[in-house]
Amino acid sequence: MAKKAYFEPPDVKVDFPALERTLLEYWYQKGIVKKYLEKNKNSKKYFSFLDGPITANNPMGIHHAWGRTYKDLWQRFKNMQGFKQRFQNGFDCQGLWVEVEVEKELGLKSKKDIENLVEGNLKESIAKFIELCKGRVRRFAGIQTEQSKRLGYFMDWDHSYYTLSDENNYMIWHFLKKCHEKGLIYKGHDSVPWCPRCGTAISQHEMLTEDYKEATHDSVYVQYPIVGRKNEYLLVWTTTPWTLPGNVAVAIAADRDYVVAGGEVKGNTYYLNEYAAKRLNLKIEKKIKGKELVGLKYISPFDGLSGIKKALGKYEHEVVATDEKILPVSEEEGTGLVHVAPGAGSEDYKLGKKLDLPVIELIDEEAAYISDLGEFSGKNAKKHPEIILDYLKENPEYLFDIVPYTHRYPACWRCKTELVWRVVDEWYIAMEPLREPLKKVTQKINWLPKFGLKREIDWLDNMHDWLISKKRYWGLALPIWECSQCGHFEVIGGKDELREKALEGWEKFDGNSPHRPWVDEVKIKCEKCGKKMQRIPDVGNPWLDAGIVPFSTVSTDNKSEPLYWKDKGEWEKWYPADFITESFPGQFKNWFYSLLAMSTVLENSEPFKTVLGFATLLGEDGRPMHKSWGNSIEFNEGADKIGVDVMRWMYVRQDPSLNLLFGYKVADETRR
Ligand SMILES: [Zn+2]
Ligand SMILES: [Zn+2]
Repeated sequence: MAKKAYFEPPDVKVDFPALERTLLEYWYQKGIVKKYLEKNKNSKKYFSFLDGPITANNPMGIHHAWGRTYKDLWQRFKNMQGFKQRFQNGFDCQGLWVEVEVEKELGLKSKKDIENLVEGNLKESIAKFIELCKGRVRRFAGIQTEQSKRLGYFMDWDHSYYTLSDENNYMIWHFLKKCHEKGLIYKGHDSVPWCPRCGTAISQHEMLTEDYKEATHDSVYVQYPIVGRKNEYLLVWTTTPWTLPGNVAVAIAADRDYVVAGGEVKGNTYYLNEYAAKRLNLKIEKKIKGKELVGLKYISPFDGLSGIKKALGKYEHEVVATDEKILPVSEEEGTGLVHVAPGAGSEDYKLGKKLDLPVIELIDEEAAYISDLGEFSGKNAKKHPEIILDYLKENPEYLFDIVPYTHRYPACWRCKTELVWRVVDEWYIAMEPLREPLKKVTQKINWLPKFGLKREIDWLDNMHDWLISKKRYWGLALPIWECSQCGHFEVIGGKDELREKALEGWEKFDGNSPHRPWVDEVKIKCEKCGKKMQRIPDVGNPWLDAGIVPFSTVSTDNKSEPLYWKDKGEWEKWYPADFITESFPGQFKNWFYSLLAMSTVLENSEPFKTVLGFATLLGEDGRPMHKSWGNSIEFNEGADKIGVDVMRWMYVRQDPSLNLLFGYKVADETRR
């Protein structure tokens, strides 16, 4: 006979979600949330929580609810302890992520489509596009607000901050002006990663490991005939054949061993390293030192194209000794002889600069070959790599072999298009003078878990100058006015300064937000040559928007002028923030970094005292949530099926340093 249990098992089928909805309604109707928010408004004790803005571009995800649960938990705890708080939520509003979604909605394919939204009228087109971006942000900020309330997250929901606000944009102007006063702002001519669909540079900060995708490309072994040596070739390998017309040099490691080897064709001799010779089944004849190759001249199959002739001038292709710190030569991959195209690679460009090599520019904004490149001109280098391969097949004296090659290749973080490298003018903040001050500031912060400190320092040790410009539309209007006559540029620090310096166009701009196209109406006078200066058309890196919020968003009532300008003494009670919490992956290069950089420049102090980092939310099968894998759960669906109390319990009992596996099975167990 089975024994009867002492207690009936709890009824796990109670409709928690329905109970929650009733309760939430009651809380808001009876003003309980308001009472909660105002409980300590006269307290002398402050607890400053700073919200990392959520991108208002899509409905909130189930992973956002994890972070928002921590945010709520900390503030509730401090509220019970009697601390005065701001309870301010933030929305991140500007940048490429919004633009790309609006483009998708409208079915736009390129920047040309955006610029022709109102046919034949560039300014009206941009104005319309900007309005659509603002509209999308408003829509999703509203949706995310409702979802957050549904989560039971108590905040001052009527006064969230928006990074598109005038205060936020002008505060960044102020920051950039300070940078300029320290001599940190410069226009760089450099080879940068570039998205051919978005038509914009992608900064080092934006290239996260997850933006590298596995891709198979045709790699090529090219044989370059050596000038004055019959049947002798340099054997060079590249995974990006589209860059071959841009070749100017072959780099080798001068102090390493190379070999002279014979191939299948009788009498042909190749120079390469031993490792490659064995892999390619070449017959090694003798060993030589790398430095014996330096100075050899060779011929490229693309030398006949007029654009290349012009770029090379009197220069002849040459073997050069690499600088391992700039362009390391791999022993195992390739042949030990590296194709150098300064117009199509960052390291190549740097090495070329050091060795004074010519730069051959190859492609335009959309990765189409530019004019003067003969049969290639106008064709897309990235979409049609076969045009180069076919050309080599037609000129077999230069082709050794074509081999498919699978590697991790960087893609645009926003639209997933594979990146290319292009030489362009972009604007930078020089980070070298800030590296040590930033590291000092970083060490003052309490990182939870502890390894966060090391991760941040690692990034600061490796960061390049900060590429802050984007040739796009919806974003911070970089406050840089440039003289086309003499090249002088000026950085404007705020609206008042712009009004004072405006030579013309103020009346067209006044009354609009400081965005394209309106702010571009304002012209100022060049103090060097007296000519008119125009704002550069570029918009800013979106992490500037999120990094400035300790300065731009703190106000008496979450809705008026920043205290940083109005009452610095009061502002200092909220700064540095006592606490922030965000998912660790990615933020070391992004939000944490931009907060640190901007606070170091403006106040030389840490922007926050403690950061709680947490890991990544995955599906319950341990894989990233993905609609096509069937393990993805929308926030609304989760809240309706599981109930937010159960979800919040799942979040808070999790070790934040470990990935959280989330799904209905786990939820069912939790509910018991
Ligand atoms: Zn893109
Ligand atoms: Zn000038």
